Amino acid sequence: ATWTKDGGWHDGRVVPYGPIQLMPSAAVLHYAQEIFEGMKAYRHEDGSVWTFRPEANAARMARSARRLALPELSEADFIGSLKALLAVDEAWVPPADGSEASLYLRPFMYASESFLGVRPANEVTYSVIASPAGPYFAGGLKPVKLWISQDYARAGAGGTGAAKCGGNYASSLAGQLEGIENGCDQAVFLDSGTHELIEELGGMNLFFLTKDGELVTPELSGSILEGITRSSILELAKDLDLTPVERKVPIQEWKDGVASGDIVEIFACGTAAVITPVGELRWEGGSAPAVGGPEGGEVTRAIRSRLLDIQYGRAEDSRGWLTRLA
Ligand code: PMP
Repeated sequence: ATWTKDGGWHDGRVVPYGPIQLMPSAAVLHYAQEIFEGMKAYRHEDGSVWTFRPEANAARMARSARRLALPELSEADFIGSLKALLAVDEAWVPPADGSEASLYLRPFMYASESFLGVRPANEVTYSVIASPAGPYFAGGLKPVKLWISQDYARAGAGGTGAAKCGGNYASSLAGQLEGIENGCDQAVFLDSGTHELIEELGGMNLFFLTKDGELVTPELSGSILEGITRSSILELAKDLDLTPVERKVPIQEWKDGVASGDIVEIFACGTAAVITPVGELRWEGGSAPAVGGPEGGEVTRAIRSRLLDIQYGRAEDSRGWLTRLA
């Protein structure tokens, strides 16, 4: 669909996947006025297709839109766009064979107006693409090694860290690369002010479990993306007799907690991987060992199964988190 300052949203339609035409001076290519979402469609045993908490994605996209001075798309239009795409051919959604396969959905919005100059675009395009996604972990759950990105922050106070915009990912790449060069899978980003507080990974939020049953995650600082998996886990924690805690988490607490036995499990979460156990932590000149065992701790795996069971319709959706798409 296209948005123009004079005409609002119009011309919504489903077209074959293929190149899009943009002028070389399209604003998005120069000023990164762009936002997106990441979600999945899951097939249930009876053949029906569902998605998880799309209202939360619609609300987050609206917040991202406000931050990037893009037009808002209503919740009804957002969810309607997903249904319209699946109405063309819902066979894109993999069968319910217990393998954790799904259809990844990527709604995105960008400044398609052609002009040079820094101002909000008067013409914007919204699209959704979809891609079948196999199980994130082909060979069973494997803890990821994390690298503390000491020099690079992905987002700063007052910046766009709480919005899901492309620029945040561009700024996370150098830290990510540094982590890979140091034998790690992903980078942990710290706050840009003190460089002491844990924020998140490039594309996932972090949690740790204390020996006292507290499930701790960094509080929303204004530069952390409010993950929908994160907020779902904070809710589910109560069902598992865990105490959800959102607060400031110094990176030193991780290093000390692993050594003292106060931290018993660590995991990262997001739509793509759902939950991935976190193993060793490395930084320039040091490392902290993994906790929780080679396949992730018991609680990590229990929360993961609980979320997956809801998403794939194997457990009761008592919170009304699912919306039928087809
Ligand atoms: N943080 C960042 C920076 C992300 O890109 C994502 C993925 N959207 C998350 C956290 C997790 O968010 P969600 O659970 O909504 O996928």
